[in-house]
Amino acid sequence: MGTSDDDVAAPFWAAVRDRGVLAMQRCLACAHIRYPVSAVCPRCLHDGYEWQDLSGRGTVLSSVTFHRAYRPEWAGLVPYDVLFVELDEGPRMFSAPAPDHRAGFAVGQRVRVVPAELLPGEVVPCFERAESEVAG
Ligand SMILES: [Zn+2]
Repeated sequence: MGTSDDDVAAPFWAAVRDRGVLAMQRCLACAHIRYPVSAVCPRCLHDGYEWQDLSGRGTVLSSVTFHRAYRPEWAGLVPYDVLFVELDEGPRMFSAPAPDHRAGFAVGQRVRVVPAELLPGEVVPCFERAESEVAG
């Protein structure tokens, strides 16, 4: 039985779904935080890693409104916003505002992760504004 990317990524999704946190692979050789999930470290090619909980905090690099669905199953969500967030630990990820935080994501906005069921049965890491924080 081989190991698919889905198998490797299972702890990422379980952390979001069960604990509401972001967990990512931390390279055992160089400590690089891998994202997206990968079989080997993109920086040093070592295959050893451990899962590490992240702070879930980051800064918005860009915010774009989609008027067409990127995936067919998202058609009911149009128009929707897509955020590009740089996490405090370094990785950059595309995500979405939490359902009750649709507007006001300027570049530089401090955010924190919050799990949201955007589609039935599909809990994904979204972001809400972290009002009390100032971008550094
Ligand atoms: Zn590495």
